[in-house]
Amino acid sequence: MSIKLVVLGAAGRMGRQLLRLAIEDEAFTLIGGTTVPADPLLGQDLGTLAGLPSTDLALQISDEELLGRADVVVDFTQPSALAGHAALVKHAGVGWILGTTGLSAGDQKLVEDTAKQAPVMQAANFALGVNLLLALVTKAAARLDESWDIEILEMHHNQKVDAPSGTALALGEAAATGRQGDFHNLARLSREGHTGKRPKGEIGFATLRGGTMAGEHEVIFASDSERLILAHKASDRVIFAKGALFAARWIKGKVPGLYSLADALEPSN
Ligand code: NAD
Repeated sequence: MSIKLVVLGAAGRMGRQLLRLAIEDEAFTLIGGTTVPADPLLGQDLGTLAGLPSTDLALQISDEELLGRADVVVDFTQPSALAGHAALVKHAGVGWILGTTGLSAGDQKLVEDTAKQAPVMQAANFALGVNLLLALVTKAAARLDESWDIEILEMHHNQKVDAPSGTALALGEAAATGRQGDFHNLARLSREGHTGKRPKGEIGFATLRGGTMAGEHEVIFASDSERLILAHKASDRVIFAKGALFAARWIKGKVPGLYSLADALEPSN
């Protein structure tokens, strides 16, 4: 049976990709797409938004009636949408694929509470290659001692509103896990002015913004006379949408809980 899918944030860059892939994929029946009440595109046909022939579905706001009919909702919106969407997901008990980044600690708590009543998969980056990179970074950080400085460099398009990227932060957490350290104590999210020498064990970040690029991340391990660089380059944001729909297929029918993409990639799951 096909998966009844709702795309939250359907008029956004990720939302339109998700609409297009879902409409063209027989595994899914798209039942709705949502936006903010003030969006001038409200009421627009979802097929048209995706650059496809028209459907009988119009862009609407997220509400109980729509989520009540869904199996899974895919959410690439904004942190301001988090509390409202968490409440709707909790009420409907529907699968929630959450890609929004830049969440506060309070938002994150709401995600964890919601996962007690609905199956939730959250990933800062739904690209399958990035999820392998996370595992490689943990392994490298565990094998290379503190004489190897860890720096994380990321570059994204000029419309991105949060920094460092959610993926860069996840890579930093993966490195801290490998070092068995506390990420919040080790992370230096930016540098400016007279910073003093680099403390041993620090995990440094640098953020670049420009153009239209989907996202590039490098994790640099630098020692006295060699550097190991692990990198991922996304050339099209369609990879995030594909990963999110892979996750949507996996999460349908799962018991409540907070899942990661690594869970879905585990052959035994
Ligand atoms: P965007 O600004 O193009 O789109 C966001 C859309 O969400 C907008 O159309 C906005 O109107 C809509 N929105 C906001 N509040 C809403 C609400 N309450 N209900 C319904 N819709 C609402 O942004 P984007 O580039 O598509 O990215 C969206 C989010 O996804 C960002 O947080 C971005 O960092 C994140 N992202 C994550 C991944 C990943 O793999 N996890 C990949 C790409 C982008």
